[in-house]
Amino acid sequence: MRISFDCHVHTLRSACGEDITDEWLFQQARTRDLCFAVTDHTMHLYYEPEIAWAMYREDAIELFEARKAVGRERVVRYMEDLRAGGCPNLLVGVELDVLPDGQFMFPDDLRGQLDICLGAVHVLPSAEARGQQPAVEAEQRQQTLWLMEYGVDVLAHPFRTMLSSGYTVSDDLVTWTVEQAAEHGVALEVNSHKRYRDHDLLMVRRCDELGVRLACGSDAHNTREFGVFDYQRQVFCEAGLSDGRLAELLFTPEMCGTYR
Ligand SMILES: [Zn+2]
Ligand SMILES: [Zn+2]
Repeated sequence: MRISFDCHVHTLRSACGEDITDEWLFQQARTRDLCFAVTDHTMHLYYEPEIAWAMYREDAIELFEARKAVGRERVVRYMEDLRAGGCPNLLVGVELDVLPDGQFMFPDDLRGQLDICLGAVHVLPSAEARGQQPAVEAEQRQQTLWLMEYGVDVLAHPFRTMLSSGYTVSDDLVTWTVEQAAEHGVALEVNSHKRYRDHDLLMVRRCDELGVRLACGSDAHNTREFGVFDYQRQVFCEAGLSDGRLAELLFTPEMCGTYR
């Protein structure tokens, strides 16, 4: 099964980006038979490099409030820079962050200008404070719902933050997430940048049962990761998806923007 859409790519604008420039992406778009979405972190469009990871600080909200106007200007310039390439197979998107108080780090009036919007849970204050499992899980569910209600196209790496912080993601939480995705019409991403195979396998099987769309994201932070889907193919195969079923479930560029 050929996978021809990479929904998740970072440039150097993301503080964790390593070497991907706009020029390199324009060249890829012109020379490869691949559609891809550039999805830099909204936190890095608002917070300048000196405070790139301010999302993890207690004053994250204050710092965001003080940067709303300048952040909006950066978002506008970001979209203009990417559109300047004139590449129809390069989608202009973001990886949307939601603050712990439910504010989205994106100007509401510009939502309609995005080709694609990924949502991601990146910061769970209870996890940062080494809180108890139930508190962390409650925040995870709340942020997941906020992003889905906002109308993101894809929920990126749905369980990474809890897992990388050392918390358990139960089968129940995976099933609940897939049920919410079905209800809200959101695709779930199989992400190959950081791999959580057991959770991805269960998620894919539940998506198959409920007909939830599966999005493939390299979450490329460097040129080596870009457009490589070996991991996703292995997971789909191990989950028992036939090529025919996968073709029915794969999230495609035409499905972007349904809710904006
Ligand atoms: Zn992310
Ligand atoms: Zn990412």
